[in-house]
Amino acid sequence: MESLKKRILAEGQAIDADILKVDGFINHQVDPVLMTEAGKEFANFFADKGVTKVVTIESSGIAPAMMTAAALNVPMVILKKQPSKKLNPKLYQTEISSFTKEISYELTMSQEFIGENDHVLIIDDFLANGEAATGAIRLLRFAHATIAGVGVLIEKSFQPGRKKLEEQGIEVCSLVRIAKMETNHIELMD
Ligand code: 5GP
Repeated sequence: MESLKKRILAEGQAIDADILKVDGFINHQVDPVLMTEAGKEFANFFADKGVTKVVTIESSGIAPAMMTAAALNVPMVILKKQPSKKLNPKLYQTEISSFTKEISYELTMSQEFIGENDHVLIIDDFLANGEAATGAIRLLRFAHATIAGVGVLIEKSFQPGRKKLEEQGIEVCSLVRIAKMETNHIELMD
């Protein structure tokens, strides 16, 4: 997606060789026009897959997931990071190790909103090691749902996420792929 590439090159900040900061348009302040375009791109890519729901991981995946769900005219479901068994005892739960925070956290999904008849598109902001997406897939499989694919705004292609997902037979759509980073330097893939 050309507009996202331009934005990353103009405003993205490579903190080091691994972490890209995009707080001005994705992670802290959100550009709704850019997210609307991203949603349409994902919706076009997965248009003929029979997606029944879009699933995302709170919080940075919510904006692109919402726009994708709107473009596909299906509901969006947010996987939650806080275990809330008191609020809802009927939860699926799995542990994820966080790439940016270097900790593990519990990801939860209510049994109420995803079931065996769902064919789910997972949308997130970044794909790095594929831990978040793999955890989301685990939760969806607990519910006997099937996976239509994974869409991410930014894939860091020098990290193993894509390979990990493709090895499980999951189709990945990335709107921008980063080939390499160094502090204050970003190289995109064609
Ligand atoms: P993974 O689970 O694929 O290793 O990492 C994906 C998750 O970590 C995403 O949900 C995203 O929130 C976060 N993440 C991974 N790499 C980056 C990065 O370079 N910058 C930012 N801002 N978040 C990242």
